[in-house]
Amino acid sequence: MRLVFLGPPGAGKGTQSTRIQEKYKIPQLSTGDMLRAAVKAGTPIGLKAKAIMDAGGLVPDEVVVGIISERIDETDAKNGFILDGFPRTVKQAEALADILLQKKINLDAVIELKVDHGALIERIEKRVADAKAKGEAIRADDNPESFKKRLEAYHEQTAPVSAFYASTGELKAVDGMAPVDAVTAEIERLLAS
Ligand code: ADP
Repeated sequence: MRLVFLGPPGAGKGTQSTRIQEKYKIPQLSTGDMLRAAVKAGTPIGLKAKAIMDAGGLVPDEVVVGIISERIDETDAKNGFILDGFPRTVKQAEALADILLQKKINLDAVIELKVDHGALIERIEKRVADAKAKGEAIRADDNPESFKKRLEAYHEQTAPVSAFYASTGELKAVDGMAPVDAVTAEIERLLAS
């Protein structure tokens, strides 16, 4: 099973892809997690990405395309994967299509989690408050200013990716405002059909 999860920051991509990864025994490949790991390790990519990420902007397409192309060649991704946070631009979606063609594999579905704009801000505020309450580290980009920029980047650059996959017939939309379990059930229903 090869899947893409689309949706704005705070839509629940991470929560849902963790559940789906357990059910189908396929790894969740999050470009955000990979980039944060690169920042932490101080690799050349991490050094380049840090300031852009902290400010809520998008890392250059060629950087994330390179990371993903290598990652899906790894053994654990041979039978499938969930892409979470990639593709985030139409350019990335086109590059992914080329990569999959070269590797002779196909996507099974692109799942878009649809969530109201107002709810996203509330969710992200709650995520920060929960992390603080648990004494966990707060992401450098989980502050109101960066979050606003992440939403802008989403509307300007990522929303067109939905139209891209609608035109290929791969897009399946899910109501991300429903309770977490109901969203999971709906995704599983779509994947089974
Ligand atoms: P979110 O919680 O907003 O979904 P992610 O963890 O997916 O965040 O990504 C965090 C940041 O990492 C993004 O704001 C962006 O700077 C960078 N990033 C992640 N994936 C991509 C991508 N596919 N293209 C460009 N930048 C990316």
